[in-house]
Amino acid sequence: MTPSTTASADLFARAQQVIPSGVNSPVRAFGSVGGTPPFLTSATGALLTDADGTEYVDLVGSWGPMILGHAHEGVVEAVREAAGHGLSFGAPQEGEVALAEEVVSRIAPVEQLRLVNSGTEATMSALRVARAATGRDVIVKFAGCYHGHVDALLAEAGSGVATFAMPGSAGVTAATAKDTVVLPYGDREAVRALFAERGQEIAAIITEAAPANMGVVTPLEEDGIGFNRFLSETARAAGALLISDEVLTGFRAAREGHYGIDGADRSWAPDLMTFGKVIGGGLPVGAFGGRKDLMGLLAPAGPVYQAGTLSGNPLATAAGLATLNGLDEAAYDTLSSASRTLQQLVADALTTAGVPHVIQTAGTLFSVFFRSEPVRGYEEAKAQDTESFTRFFHAMLEGGIYLPPSAFEAWFVSTAHTPEVLDRIAAVLPGAAKAAAGA
Ligand SMILES: *Cc1c(COP(=O)(O)O)cnc(C)c1O
Repeated sequence: MTPSTTASADLFARAQQVIPSGVNSPVRAFGSVGGTPPFLTSATGALLTDADGTEYVDLVGSWGPMILGHAHEGVVEAVREAAGHGLSFGAPQEGEVALAEEVVSRIAPVEQLRLVNSGTEATMSALRVARAATGRDVIVKFAGCYHGHVDALLAEAGSGVATFAMPGSAGVTAATAKDTVVLPYGDREAVRALFAERGQEIAAIITEAAPANMGVVTPLEEDGIGFNRFLSETARAAGALLISDEVLTGFRAAREGHYGIDGADRSWAPDLMTFGKVIGGGLPVGAFGGRKDLMGLLAPAGPVYQAGTLSGNPLATAAGLATLNGLDEAAYDTLSSASRTLQQLVADALTTAGVPHVIQTAGTLFSVFFRSEPVRGYEEAKAQDTESFTRFFHAMLEGGIYLPPSAFEAWFVSTAHTPEVLDRIAAVLPGAAKAAAGA
């Protein structure tokens, strides 16, 4: 564990005086793995440097946005250029149009898009549109899926809520919780039963296109019908909507997000979709979009109010657009091959050390569960050996590999994870696997 005399430890002590738990997002505090989080000073490509000058190979990628690697020349240049023309207008500018055009041209179900500042804002706004469109109140979500810290969506959420074993959040009113129904992920019978009983009250189902905030859970097919298509058809039959949350999977799982995998045959489409993370390339951007008739409900033309002082900010749209422009077919090939190589290295090391594990994927996304059985939902994700993960995590960190500080998160590679970078990870894995085994 990090000695308490380091620059990071000093900064963490200072931070705890003025920032709750010393962090601006819970999982950063290392609460579930223990120890002091490194305070970072710079990052380039696949590498991070902390306040003590220690270098790490990064497998967090700012939780997804840094898909082209840190301080990518094209992205930084685009932001620098935009900054020279003014930081914020609070008025329309071309970058917003260009970013929306890029998303609409990539992702078939998105006919119109509105930009916001985070994934949380995107899901919150999508719910509002769905409720306005249907005139209904109830939202259905799945246990272990995380959709940001929207009141209505915190029940049995993944990500930090899973990391800290919280049932939801204090401060959410009973009235709000009453309108959210939580079902087990992948459980079609539960979905059918709920719609049979309360179908006419349901405004929307919201789901991660592939859950990735309880670890990665691959949506399964039954009789050739994928889970997302099943949800879309079930919702539609009852006059409800499907909101597909691609904040994490969008532009990462594949070029067209996870929809590029399970919607590629165009046999179905979500009504609304939400984005974040990669779409901002490291600056605060979220977005929600979908059918024109639904998006047309937004003010000022329609009755659904939604707004943002910094929405469509010129620096943010420049970073997002430069990132998406860098994500061509070759980039996805690189990403996919780095992801597969790393999965194999991890599997080999854990197998050799006799550590029970299962690696699950959604396109180029993957995560490692410390248990031997496949994980299909939240209960199974929680049944993994988090103590084994904690030992593994600290051994990796000491070896200069920066993993997500939670067993419930995806591992993020970038196009900057070259074979040389992967070799550095490979050198540390066997020792960390032994630590995970408790040897
Ligand atoms: C990260 C995430 C969010 C929340 O996005 P923020 O930008 O952190 O508010 C919502 N949904 C999913 C699937 C996410 O992974």
